[in-house]
Amino acid sequence: MTRRAIVAANWKMNGNSALVNTMVTGLSDIKLAENVDVVICPSFPYLSELKSELSKANVATNLFVGSQNVSEHDSGAFTGEVSTNMLKELSVNYVIVGHSERRSLYKETSTQVAHKVNAALNAGLTPILCIGESESERATEQTETVLASQLQPVIDEVGIEKFVDVVIAYEPVWAIGTGKTASSEMAQETHQFIRQFLAQNNELVAAKVPLLYGGSVNATNCEELFAQADIDGGLIGGASLKVEQFSSICLAA
Ligand code: PGA
Repeated sequence: MTRRAIVAANWKMNGNSALVNTMVTGLSDIKLAENVDVVICPSFPYLSELKSELSKANVATNLFVGSQNVSEHDSGAFTGEVSTNMLKELSVNYVIVGHSERRSLYKETSTQVAHKVNAALNAGLTPILCIGESESERATEQTETVLASQLQPVIDEVGIEKFVDVVIAYEPVWAIGTGKTASSEMAQETHQFIRQFLAQNNELVAAKVPLLYGGSVNATNCEELFAQADIDGGLIGGASLKVEQFSSICLAA
């Protein structure tokens, strides 16, 4: 089964108009492989600018815009929130859902994450569903239980068939922004578990879901990670803010 590779940039609360500009210019200088999609996820204020810079520049058509979060609600009294329809109006294609920083700092539960995945799918946005265990959970051999507990509410809410339109990012919390990447063997083993977990529900769907690895991916370690059978690309934080590094990662996918 050949799946498309995806490299997604999670700028978090970093970047500005200048970075939008230099990133678009930098990416228009490289020749992306045809089976690779690149998604850039800046903060909300830059989505529109990124979209328009991409359409003006002579960039490959496989470059997409994503947001870092979305509301589970359609509209109403939810100060500070952004709806799927607003993102659609800006021609956003992807949305990161359930990033570990949202889960830990903003107390998003797996049930809320499931609602957000559902809202994104209903609006025709592709959710990048983030899951991952903490350092102590890994140390106490709870990784698989934790990942299952993060996936099951989403499967229950949207149904396994809808996962053909979902991207999953496995991001061990202890590897995010720490420089401690999971070894390629550990990452592959965990990705394989995630695919098997999906396959228990539907084998055909499981074979189609792109599984991205995230957590201290850089231009040096990406090649070995991306070479693993169940790793279909990456969700990149720190290294996605540097044009050269990010370009190299995109070229390695
Ligand atoms: P990092 O972040 O690449 O800086 O570790 C990844 C992420 O949080 O998505």
